[in-house]
Amino acid sequence: MNDCVFCRIVAGEAPATKVYEDDLLCAFLDIRPVARGHTLIVPKRHATELEDLDADVGALVFRAGHRIALAMRRSSLAADGANLVLNDGRAAFQTVPHIHLHVIPRRHGDKLSFAKGFLLRRPHDPQSTADAIRTGLATLACQDDTEGFGTQEGMQA
Ligand code: AMP
Ligand code: ZN
Repeated sequence: MNDCVFCRIVAGEAPATKVYEDDLLCAFLDIRPVARGHTLIVPKRHATELEDLDADVGALVFRAGHRIALAMRRSSLAADGANLVLNDGRAAFQTVPHIHLHVIPRRHGDKLSFAKGFLLRRPHDPQSTADAIRTGLATLACQDDTEGFGTQEGMQA
């Protein structure tokens, strides 16, 4: 195993609050969230930057981001929208060299709390936050009758 922190999270060797995983992807809470629910989606197989990422896996990462953003709307996080952000490379301020998609829930009128969250990056209760997202995913699965993110054997973390 390399010394990549996200590879270690994927392997269960470093702590993280996972909200979803399947054969190809893993989603977990950001340790320094900009807002409650801030989630990172990573491919399980290490890729440092977009340059190294299989395009089909990249599409699945975005698909997962889409799904988690919808789950945030359907959960007690009561999101009205989300920022989906991927910083590709150090030139783009990528700080963890394992590609990841940020999904940050947004609410109408949250400009000030969002700016504060951006400065403070304080953790919120991770268990209740992850439960809320998992519940949103389950609600979504009931609505459209699908389990995972259309990758492979989807399962709840
Ligand atoms: P970026 O600047 O796009 O590379 O974002 C890296 C993100 O990873 C930041 O938002 C960090 O707070 C987050 N992060 C770093 N280490 C961990 C960790 N061990 N568990 C969860 N999130 C992390
Ligand atoms: Zn890695």
